Amino acid sequence: MSDDDKKKEDEKNPQDLPPGIDEISKQLEQLFKSGFGGASVKVNPFQMDEEEDETGADDLDIEDEIDPFSGLFEFNMMPRDIKAHLDRFVIRQDEAKKALGIAVCDHYNHAKFLRRLEEEDPEAASQVEFLKQNVMIIGPTGVGKTYLVKHIADLIGVPFVKADATKFSETGYVGGDVDDLVRELVRKADGDVELAEYGIIYIDEIDKLASRGGNSMGRDVSGRGVQTTLLKLMEETEVPLRNPMDMQSQMMAMMEMQRGGKGGPQKQSINTRHILFIVSGAFSGLDKVVSQRLRQGQIGFGAEHVDAPKESEILGLAATQDLIEFGFEAEFVGRLPVRVVCDPLPADALFSIMKDSEGSLIRQYEREFEAYGMSIRFTDGALQLIAERAAEEKTGARGLLTVGEQLLRGFKFALPGGSVSELEVDERCILETEAVLAEYVERNKEVGLGKLGDDVNVFARTFAEKYGITLEFDESALKVLADIVEEETLTAQQVLRGRLKDFHYGLKLIQNNTGKDLFMVTGEALRDADKFLSDKVVESYGK
Ligand code: ADP
Repeated sequence: MSDDDKKKEDEKNPQDLPPGIDEISKQLEQLFKSGFGGASVKVNPFQMDEEEDETGADDLDIEDEIDPFSGLFEFNMMPRDIKAHLDRFVIRQDEAKKALGIAVCDHYNHAKFLRRLEEEDPEAASQVEFLKQNVMIIGPTGVGKTYLVKHIADLIGVPFVKADATKFSETGYVGGDVDDLVRELVRKADGDVELAEYGIIYIDEIDKLASRGGNSMGRDVSGRGVQTTLLKLMEETEVPLRNPMDMQSQMMAMMEMQRGGKGGPQKQSINTRHILFIVSGAFSGLDKVVSQRLRQGQIGFGAEHVDAPKESEILGLAATQDLIEFGFEAEFVGRLPVRVVCDPLPADALFSIMKDSEGSLIRQYEREFEAYGMSIRFTDGALQLIAERAAEEKTGARGLLTVGEQLLRGFKFALPGGSVSELEVDERCILETEAVLAEYVERNKEVGLGKLGDDVNVFARTFAEKYGITLEFDESALKVLADIVEEETLTAQQVLRGRLKDFHYGLKLIQNNTGKDLFMVTGEALRDADKFLSDKVVESYGK
């Protein structure tokens, strides 16, 4: 163990000592290990003192190393740690989780390795070759592509920027736009350029840059231009911290320079070497390209493969040549070595998203209703129906939002502020939404009548004290009162005082004519007090 202690001492003072063979081999080991999906590789055959468990996860005491990212972010993860984290939020997409976990670990382990090496031996560091593990995710909309990447960035603690490839061509100055992505990372990192240099840039709808892909629609020229610009970023380039086209930020930069930085000059550019790029798209039509190649390859192999494989299976077989055929530049595709397919989400997956995912839409609804002082509960049967309807939308998990919004709109409008405080969404609520809503609205009023009844009693008591006449309100009066309270957003007392303002004059007359001192107030009386009274008065003369 004393060897280990010495090693740690060495690491604490990297400037005092050149890296020992132990140290370099340890780093190489770590690099290899991550590069082979967690399989451990012994680089130094003499380093025999570590016990390996069967997972190989504990064979390096990473936690105890001095973290070269210290102050920036921590990175001590295994691919399976990343998958486990993603499993909490993202349902299915297991292959994508694994591939992303490995790519991300390789990327940050390498970055960590280089960062340390740069400090210890810049010469050696500059000679290390590494192909960045930029990722291409292929999959339909709403199946968790962005969600995966966002949660990875959150987990690692690096800034994350999402953009849409179709936006890049809309401005004349294409290059400027793309560079803005990198500057945006700095903004997301609260101005910390060094942290931004380890961020993740995620670009959706990348398939729209392909010249022949399904929806590219004459985008040959600009699409290719954007690919070239992106290519530069994906390799290594320095992006100026200030947009050269933006006068305001240029002036600010000048003013900062004049003021003079505190601790030496501030970094004026962002290096993209360690920025991880993840691109994605639906790639509609790519399956045809792939299956055509596969068919051609099968000529002469007989007709064994008559079963048509699923679209996502075909997409999983997409090779570089297919992507070039689809309309990408070879160099561009070459910079995206990790290919990941996300599967469409069938109804049962959508059900699990609602039931099991930590970021579930259901939690969101619960919070929304809570804000109105209400609780909402979904039965499993209801969730099943919602999932089935959402699947028909063919927009992945986004369909859940559409279905949920349609379903709950009426309830969210009618119930808050009323007296019903619990909404149970069951199957009937989904199948006969209107009828169930009407029932809830009715109940909202009924329960409300209890409180209105108290208000009415107070009014009647005061009325009796003042005029010596007893008022009784029948059920229709309470209903009408509830309606008016809602329509005019007044309190019951206000409505009664307003509507029955002159009631006692008429009633006194009738009292004189008939000797009656108890009157029944009906809904009609509240709607049109004058007519109600004059009818009664006329009637009393008859008597
Ligand atoms: P896209 O694949 O188009 O990038 P997103 O990742 O943006 O789709 O998904 C939209 C939303 O749907 C997410 O914010 C998340 O709430 C939900 N969602 C999508 N896929 C999944 C999934 N596999 N598991 C859990 N939630 C998901």
